Amino acid sequence: MTTKKFLLQEKDIPTAWYNIVADMKNKPMPILNPKTKQPMKEEDLYPLFSKAVSHQEMNTTDAWIEIPEEVRELYKVWRPTPLVRAAGLEKALDTPAHIYFKNESVSPIGSHKLNSALAQAYYCKQEGVTNITTETGAGQWGAALSYAAKAFGLELAVYMVKVSYHQKPYRRSIMQTFGSQVIASPSMSTKAGRKILTDHPNYQGSLGTAISEAVELAMSTPNCKYTLGSVLNHVMLHQTVIGLEAEKQMEMAGEYPDVVIACFGGGSNFSGIAFPFMRHKLLEGKNLRIVAAEPASCPKLTRGQFQYDFGDEAGYTPLIPMFTLGHNFAPANIHAGGLRYHGAGSIVSQLMKDGMMEAVDVQQLETFEAATLFAQCEGIIPAPESAHAIATAIREAKQAKLEGKPKTILFNLSGHGLIDMAAYDLYLAGDLRNYEVTDEEVKHNLSELEQII
Ligand SMILES: *Cc1c(COP(=O)(O)O)cnc(C)c1O
Repeated sequence: MTTKKFLLQEKDIPTAWYNIVADMKNKPMPILNPKTKQPMKEEDLYPLFSKAVSHQEMNTTDAWIEIPEEVRELYKVWRPTPLVRAAGLEKALDTPAHIYFKNESVSPIGSHKLNSALAQAYYCKQEGVTNITTETGAGQWGAALSYAAKAFGLELAVYMVKVSYHQKPYRRSIMQTFGSQVIASPSMSTKAGRKILTDHPNYQGSLGTAISEAVELAMSTPNCKYTLGSVLNHVMLHQTVIGLEAEKQMEMAGEYPDVVIACFGGGSNFSGIAFPFMRHKLLEGKNLRIVAAEPASCPKLTRGQFQYDFGDEAGYTPLIPMFTLGHNFAPANIHAGGLRYHGAGSIVSQLMKDGMMEAVDVQQLETFEAATLFAQCEGIIPAPESAHAIATAIREAKQAKLEGKPKTILFNLSGHGLIDMAAYDLYLAGDLRNYEVTDEEVKHNLSELEQII
């Protein structure tokens, strides 16, 4: 019998997050003020974010950043998370590969997002902030932040894209159960919302509009800050607890991964599992592959361009050096809502440019096929986002079989799919389809960007 589960104890929860920027020879290029095109300073972020995360966002020198004891205390609710040998999946694939996954789906909210939500809420509380705002598409970030806000006694207002507000009532009720205020966006509560509703009374909303509303409310309310669940450097930093634990657990398993895989939206769960292993590559020249799995309908890393672009559809954020499909890119309505994002964070984009990692894209039907096989073999129904990592791990395991060679695969299970069963229903009924963007669409979108590099 092979051991299937590698468990750490509470004392093994990392005491510091890993800031990969300190170890990168080529640092990411700076974020720019959209008006002046000058690099932003830490202080420029203070009106929007807590000072602590503004500092983390710009920190290029400290490789280790201490995790506050209060945050570590709350991590103990579900951390350390298990590392699992996917023995059932290996058997079903009849592969010589050893497949391991880090199970982030065991968090109270069902995904990795709580790792950063708790940290961000904690720093706001420390600095005397009383209210926080954010936007959410499918609702996973909003759900994680709702629990975090309650844990630290903050009032949270979540602008939820109107179409999701009505289509995904359970994520809305999760947020409301934790006591946050959920507002369907566009709303009459902000200038941005009122303007859109006056011009287009039936508009069903978009992330871009929800961001503008959340930012406007934060800027116009005393003691109120805005928070973001992916893309920015400080979010990547908080997620490194995933990989730091996995590093120890792979040691317990007596193996070292040949390939580390994670699904890719804005890059936070990918960075979380990958950066601690990327460190071995940067500092010791270790020979391992690191693979980001993105949807074929939103392929910024495989088919986008490295370019300064806005982080949001509406063009309110600083300009970020990123692999992007253009902030005006409208991805198809795939069920992995968390991966429908036009760009990649600046650290990952630099690593990609430097050839330190790879990216692949996966079609929707392949992801659900992989998700169903994984559920049947391992007993966990994965989030449609995580299914992109599973499908990629399966491709790697099949390749190992073809070559008749051993291979150690590690992937991140970023979340479970128990609130996404409507998507599984469609798949089982044969009503899901693939989406692919054409080269013309990609080219057309990118041609509308202002060229800064
Ligand atoms: C939000 C989300 C993602 C995508 O976000 P990243 O920042 O790219 O990690 C992936 N998986 C799950 C379960 C999510 O909730």
